[in-house]
Amino acid sequence: MRYISTRGQTPPHSFSDAVAVGLAPDGGLFLPETLPQFTAADLARFAPLGYADLCFEFLRRFATDIPEAELRPLIAASYTRFSVPEIAPLKQLGENLFVLELFHGPTLAFKDFALQLLGNLYERQCRVRSEKINVLGATSGDTGAAAIHGLLGKPGTAIFILYPDGRVSPLQERQMACTGAANVYALAVDGSFDDAQAALKEIFGDQEFRIRHRLSAVNSINLARVLAQCVYYLWAWLRLPAHVRSEAEFVVPTGNFGNVLAGWLLQKMGVPLRGFRVATNQNDILHRLFTTGDYRLGPVRPSHAPSMDIQVASNFERFLYYSVGSDPDKVREIMATFKATGGYTFTHFNRDTFTASRCTDAEIPGIIKTIQARYGYVADPHTACGFKDLAPDRPSVVLATASPAKFPDTIRAAIGIEPTDPGLEVLKVRPIVKNKLVATPAAIRAFIEAHAV
Ligand SMILES: *Cc1c(COP(=O)(O)O)cnc(C)c1O
Repeated sequence: MRYISTRGQTPPHSFSDAVAVGLAPDGGLFLPETLPQFTAADLARFAPLGYADLCFEFLRRFATDIPEAELRPLIAASYTRFSVPEIAPLKQLGENLFVLELFHGPTLAFKDFALQLLGNLYERQCRVRSEKINVLGATSGDTGAAAIHGLLGKPGTAIFILYPDGRVSPLQERQMACTGAANVYALAVDGSFDDAQAALKEIFGDQEFRIRHRLSAVNSINLARVLAQCVYYLWAWLRLPAHVRSEAEFVVPTGNFGNVLAGWLLQKMGVPLRGFRVATNQNDILHRLFTTGDYRLGPVRPSHAPSMDIQVASNFERFLYYSVGSDPDKVREIMATFKATGGYTFTHFNRDTFTASRCTDAEIPGIIKTIQARYGYVADPHTACGFKDLAPDRPSVVLATASPAKFPDTIRAAIGIEPTDPGLEVLKVRPIVKNKLVATPAAIRAFIEAHAV
């Protein structure tokens, strides 16, 4: 299997090369040259598999340049630090309501599913090629923590994570800045997540610098992340009662469009998922897109669900590629207009099987309270956005993207209980080690220059 860029000006890459570079050199995102198709017989065969075995069966179709004898243990190792044997438990809250819990990994958010795997892929790359790698990412909270825990102490690697100072939760910050690992740099920048991401894009655009430091991107554009996330949709679909399977809408708390895109790609691979709801918080560029066809930047407003405080949904470009008939020239034209003017209006926007909802910040505590009263279930503020406007007559599977224990203040204010997690308690007594920077490419470049492996 080879990987092509959405912008059409990068020669096809192998899986490992596409994973290593992250962003395609032409500024586009990697996609498989063709999508494999899973048949009914495949799905029946997958039904009894455990999570890591299912992941192997899925990824072997994509990671074709890694010998299967290496790929299987690499995947198995990526799911050993989860605290429950199901890895992604599917829980039923009501007749038509299911929750897929994706927060039992080491940093208690769904990003561990991809980043534990990505850390092991990077480690293998360094070993096989006798190279070092410097991983660079921007985070609005959970990505950075998950990326850091995927690479913690791995030889031959260093990781630099930018985050908006004061705009991630104190526990999210502690997960990044209290690891004690020498290869981890938590960089607190002045500005928003989008400022940090813009600076980072510019650094990746500097070919000489990127190649000299063997920089790799860890934000949600990395191909391996999207593919790893397809697996839990497949896992959940296999576990839904037969009469629910063809009807259930997957409701996905959304920021960068990475999580929900993975489900949609799986649908394109022949797994009959009915559709998806893009559930945003008040930072609602995607809600506006899917309801009006207008893709337009707005200001980022900090919310109770900080990992969704995003206006530029990087992974949207992958959906865009397919929705313009796999035409990279059209993708380039649309992305150039968006970059130049801050918006693009689609005259015939095909939203395919997506619906959208939007949750204001003021609504989040009330929703957390209602869910607890109605189902005895405590949802974190991101997951709560998914519970807005649930269809009563149709099954829904809400993806629970973070543990409520990561957001104790919001939960306490909503229901008077403070959820805890033993892994987080130990962090509260460790010293915070962070590096303050301005969100300019020059400042970030200088820091990497001084600390890269
Ligand atoms: C990252 C994140 C999201 C948003 O996921 P995207 O892939 O960016 O759409 C939602 N909830 C939580 C808890 C997250 O960490």
